[in-house]
Amino acid sequence: MDYNYLRVSVVECRYALIPSRLPDVDYALNPYVGCEHGCIYCYGRSMLRGRVEALSWGRFVKVKRNIHRILAKEVRSGRFKGVIGIGTVTDPYQPLESRYMLTRQCVEVLSDVGDIHVTIQTKSDLIVRDVDLIKPSLFDVGVTITTMDEDIAKIIEPKAPPPSRRISALETVSNLGVDTWIFLGPIIPYLNDDYRCIELVVDNAKRIGCEIIYDKLNLRRWVLDSMRMALEEYGNYPIDKLPLLTRRSSEWWMDVRRRVERICRDKGVRCSPAYL
Ligand code: SF4
Repeated sequence: MDYNYLRVSVVECRYALIPSRLPDVDYALNPYVGCEHGCIYCYGRSMLRGRVEALSWGRFVKVKRNIHRILAKEVRSGRFKGVIGIGTVTDPYQPLESRYMLTRQCVEVLSDVGDIHVTIQTKSDLIVRDVDLIKPSLFDVGVTITTMDEDIAKIIEPKAPPPSRRISALETVSNLGVDTWIFLGPIIPYLNDDYRCIELVVDNAKRIGCEIIYDKLNLRRWVLDSMRMALEEYGNYPIDKLPLLTRRSSEWWMDVRRRVERICRDKGVRCSPAYL
């Protein structure tokens, strides 16, 4: 797939905060629809209506240019309390954010509000730009790391910054006193599920002093198709085994869970599954 092509459209939104179904998040805030990082396993594509658009995930982005103004009105209304998750569907620090600065403006709005907590998740070191606004008392920050192997990351997360840059960004944020975590996931059979691969991520969590939240591949609609398209040129990847292997009750997942928990326990790193 040609990831260098990107269709950008600028839209107006009517709502900024959307009730969230994620555990521990009350409202979701996503300044962009679509994500330029184009991860082959991303299930954000499952929320789209058509297969063609879903399979071109990574090549279009809608920019919600007024989201910070809508957000300011919403939080002033006093109706929104609890935890706000930034980047629950698409990456808030994807490359276009350096031009549009919508996430920054939303973070600025939220850094002045009481009665809320904000959790940010990203795969980009661009978050370091906003450390002047990310108050330790109000925010926590998570960075997604699937693997420290830059060659594998390049295949499965073609336009995201390399894992080493994400780790140093997380370290910078952590050193400022902000609570941090690594999202280790998705863990994918035969790609990033072996002991050494997981251990390298856990070692980084230990060094930074952050916890790990982990999860497996989630094969929502069109994810298998996307992975098939991306991986077919890399030889004999057993793509057809994924639906069985990645069931929440599968032997594979039970094994991986035990592996992650054991490595974390041995190294003294707190960890928990994203979903029980
Ligand atoms: S960075 Fe996140 S939202 Fe963006 S494509 Fe990757 S998984 Fe999807």
